[in-house]
Amino acid sequence: MKQSGLVTLVLGADSRHREHVRFVLATVYFYSACAAIGWHAAALGEMPPLSAHIMGVSLIGTWCLFFALVRGGWSKRFRDPSLTLPHALAGIWLNTQAYMLTGPTRGNVLMLLALSLVFMSFRLGPRQIVGVSAFAVMAMGGAMAVLNHHDPLRYPASTQLAHFGLTLSCLITMGLVAKSVSDLRLRLISQRRELRQTLERVQSLATHDMLTGLANRAHMQELLDTEVQRGQRGGAPFCVALLDLDFFKIVNDAHGHRVGDDVLRGFAAAAQTQLRTIDTLARWGGEEFVLLLPQTRLEDALLGLDRLRRHVAEQRLAPAVPDLAVTFSCGLAQWAQGESPDRLVERADQALYAAKHKGRNCCVAAGPVSLAAAQGAAYGEQVA
Ligand code: GH3
Ligand code: MG
Ligand code: MG
Repeated sequence: MKQSGLVTLVLGADSRHREHVRFVLATVYFYSACAAIGWHAAALGEMPPLSAHIMGVSLIGTWCLFFALVRGGWSKRFRDPSLTLPHALAGIWLNTQAYMLTGPTRGNVLMLLALSLVFMSFRLGPRQIVGVSAFAVMAMGGAMAVLNHHDPLRYPASTQLAHFGLTLSCLITMGLVAKSVSDLRLRLISQRRELRQTLERVQSLATHDMLTGLANRAHMQELLDTEVQRGQRGGAPFCVALLDLDFFKIVNDAHGHRVGDDVLRGFAAAAQTQLRTIDTLARWGGEEFVLLLPQTRLEDALLGLDRLRRHVAEQRLAPAVPDLAVTFSCGLAQWAQGESPDRLVERADQALYAAKHKGRNCCVAAGPVSLAAAQGAAYGEQVA
């Protein structure tokens, strides 16, 4: 949705930052209401107009300062860029001043204080809420005692005590409500994190092979579909190779299934060190792997695969059997215009068959599709 220029000017363009700016913007209500209480008191003759003006200006000035710090981005260096805690403390302090200055209308300030604390507590942690409430009780209690001490006739102890009792009970109730809101918020945050982690795990399980950590067959099918679509839109040439470990059954029979698994894992790790970041190796099934080589011509793919074949043959893939060397055979095919992913893999498979037939530990590239179709076989054109 396109935002209007004014909204962007006030809130900024970054959506995360906007949330903090919006919060400070909302607090303008409490500052203006407090200033209005002062002017109301002045209108009733309960407060000198000059004091009401000074109070109003200092309230609006404080709000402008917080808005500037948050909107300007200075507060981004802190864990809470909304500056909720200092904002709450400053608000309590200003409320206390207002309470002391507004004479008989000072009860209005108590209501505003309770409201503003609830509003702030939505963004504070449980310990901060306790701290802020304690600060409010001390500041207001102190203000009430001072007023009574200096002018007991205007501020009788009974009224001041009633105000203090009201403030205290309000703050305790608000504190309890705010704490449960805060607990709920923290629980929601942690549940959201758990959900995200679970989703990532499910996604990883759905797209990866458990034993080797490589992409699985389903994921490779998707990648092949995407690559074919890209090719059909005029994308770069690409190749697919089918790799099959040689005489793997003998490895299992001679050394056991566990060693066989180690070899599969070792092969995956060794092969991946030789691949480019754009290549994807997937476990196709058993001891068979599919390698997708985007932006690669057949000749280059054949050279790369032969390098990979020699590298793997030099490795010792099972730590439990240090002298065990394993090789693979490989069939390679370059995608031809109009060819389906299945047909492409089928041609690579036929080339793999030829590589096995040739004696294994070698790579065979499938010939051009038209030629292969004419001959009814799609392999054996080039051998490495
Ligand atoms: P070739 O050179 O013709 O490919 O011979 P091969 O022995 O590699 O081929 P074959 O298809 O006869 O044997 C494949 C073996 O791979 C048989 C199967 O038990 C084994 N295998 C398949 N999946 C796993 C696995 O996850 N772990 C282990 N350890 N072995 C597996
Ligand atoms: Mg095999
Ligand atoms: Mg096989």
